[in-house]
Amino acid sequence: MPRIAVIDYDKCNPDKCGHFLCERVCPVNRMGGEAIIIDEENYRPIIQEASCTGCGICVHKCPFNAITIVNLPEELEEGCVHRYGINAFVLYRLPVVKEGMVVGVLGPNGTGKTTAVKILSGQLIPNLCGNNDNWDNVIKAFRGNELQNYFEKLKKGEIRPIVKPQYVDLIPKAVKGKVRDLLKKADESGKFDEVVKELELENILDREIQQLSGGELQRVAIAAALLRNAHFYFFDEPSSYLDIRQRLRIAKTIRRLAESGKNVLTVEHDLALLDYMSDIIHVVYGKPGAYGIFSQPKSTRNGINEFLRGYLRDENVRFRPFEISFTKKSERKAQEGEILVQYPRLVKDYGSFRLEVEGGELYVGEVVGIVGSNGIGKTTFVKMLAGVEKPTEGEVDWSLTVSYKPQYIKTDYEGTVFDLLSKIDTSKLMSNFYKTELLNPLGIPDLYDRQVNELSGGELQRVAITACLLRDADLYLLDEPSAHLDVEQRLAVSKAIRSLMAKNEKTALIVEHDVMMVDYLSDRLIVFEGEPGKYGRALPPMGMREGMNRFLANIGITFRRDPDTGRPRANKEGSVKDREQKEMGEYYYL
Ligand code: ADP
Ligand code: ADP
Ligand code: SF4
Ligand code: SF4
Repeated sequence: MPRIAVIDYDKCNPDKCGHFLCERVCPVNRMGGEAIIIDEENYRPIIQEASCTGCGICVHKCPFNAITIVNLPEELEEGCVHRYGINAFVLYRLPVVKEGMVVGVLGPNGTGKTTAVKILSGQLIPNLCGNNDNWDNVIKAFRGNELQNYFEKLKKGEIRPIVKPQYVDLIPKAVKGKVRDLLKKADESGKFDEVVKELELENILDREIQQLSGGELQRVAIAAALLRNAHFYFFDEPSSYLDIRQRLRIAKTIRRLAESGKNVLTVEHDLALLDYMSDIIHVVYGKPGAYGIFSQPKSTRNGINEFLRGYLRDENVRFRPFEISFTKKSERKAQEGEILVQYPRLVKDYGSFRLEVEGGELYVGEVVGIVGSNGIGKTTFVKMLAGVEKPTEGEVDWSLTVSYKPQYIKTDYEGTVFDLLSKIDTSKLMSNFYKTELLNPLGIPDLYDRQVNELSGGELQRVAITACLLRDADLYLLDEPSAHLDVEQRLAVSKAIRSLMAKNEKTALIVEHDVMMVDYLSDRLIVFEGEPGKYGRALPPMGMREGMNRFLANIGITFRRDPDTGRPRANKEGSVKDREQKEMGEYYYL
């Protein structure tokens, strides 16, 4: 069996483990062998896989959980595509690339999805887990595989790849100027007018890139990719910061691109969107930071269901010890429990935008989802509750304390994650309750020694959510907590929020666009209606069924539950189910 040993050198700290503890406890070394040697120059241990017996003692003894040792099935050896170095991350197998199809990729962060894209887009020649540095050997290694032909063309320069990057927030650092100029420059296909209309960019063409919101940047980045003439298009998380209507719109646009004969690959963590957009999917499994394996291609429905079950049937691999299932929650009854606050009718008038909030009440222990289009006043509402914005009409005069996580997280903090969080509440960081309910499920202890300003978007999101939930408050407001998180992290965050609110008898309001997360998280919903950028109206909190029906009817989309996993699935527009449900007025929960 091939055995891989991976050391996370960010976590390894030989001075703090009592000087290379792993080397001292390794039975092979103790018998005079050399499973672990010390790289004196870099002051770190190296595990020699050929001598290691896989006993796992070093894995358990290392106080920083820096070591992973895994035995992998024999047949994977041939599929070893790239290894970043000795004891570094290993990628096995690659996704297929199919003309005319949207190939979806589903898997945790840190399992090699971006590495695969770098390879398929020609930015990285895979070393085939050895010393390879040329495409000819790659072509040889993939002989008889669907990718052989693809790599031959890539080598000859006959394939032009375009990548829509994951972190659109970084675009303003690299690109300056007006949206129109950027898109005109990208317009090799002559589809400027069509794409601008499809992605609803008409009103922001004359805006500077620097002034755009996250949702606007996302659509501009997608438009710039669509306008290019390429063969291979890769969309890395196209959903972040977009509302549901915009998500389904870009899904249709991406589908049309594939139907015109292009190769499209997309990594997406919003399952309803991935489902709606993809023709086939690959599940990526493994251990984040240590190794990742691309599954065989699967039908979209099966692939997503197998991912949720944690078991890949064709491969006969269980990669997660538990299933993720979406059971119907019992509807929370109005008038149940203690009222936290009754807020009055509120108005905020910015001149060009007016928001009216119908009064309502929030209960102790509940989680209320906030749903509605972008630009309809959700953040303004949250800011009024948080006391950041003063209402034009109505008073928010409550003695409640509020903890707020904004949608866009800024990182000018100089210091480690531990410094940042311990300034909020050291005793909570040490408490078993917070460790079990929040810190461990979100993987925060692994980040303690990292500099806040060096975290990736997903890591920063988890830290910001943790910081918000560690503060003492009566009401917690979290704006789009799912952005940049993978499916398991989204569910971990949802569970943590629900459990902290119930056990600490607090209340949370969550602005969220991922339907699965809204479904999983919320007891009730506040629905926003109106015309984005002009006026918005917030309805009082209502039950999930009524709220989802109202919200989805406004955007004309119906959802059903998958019979096996209970997950929400968007119906194709005009399908029998879509028509039936619309006739009955049941947009959700059938
Ligand atoms: P994903 O896109 O699934 O989040 P990536 O392909 O970005 O995953 O990275 C997978 C793992 O590969 C990372 O956790 C990291 O440990 C490792 N990795 C990525 N780039 C490099 C590099 N240039 N050198 C060493 N390790 C790297
Ligand atoms: P959402 O959170 O639903 O995306 P927002 O509450 O952020 O919506 O914004 C609603 C509208 O109010 C937008 O058109 C936005 O441009 C406008 N707006 C927000 N803040 C201000 C402000 N300080 N001054 C003027 N207009 C604003
Ligand atoms: Fe110490 Fe762990 Fe690093 Fe080994 S891997 S030197 S046990 S910190
Ligand atoms: Fe040594 Fe066992 Fe660790 Fe291998 S797994 S390096 S044999 S302690």
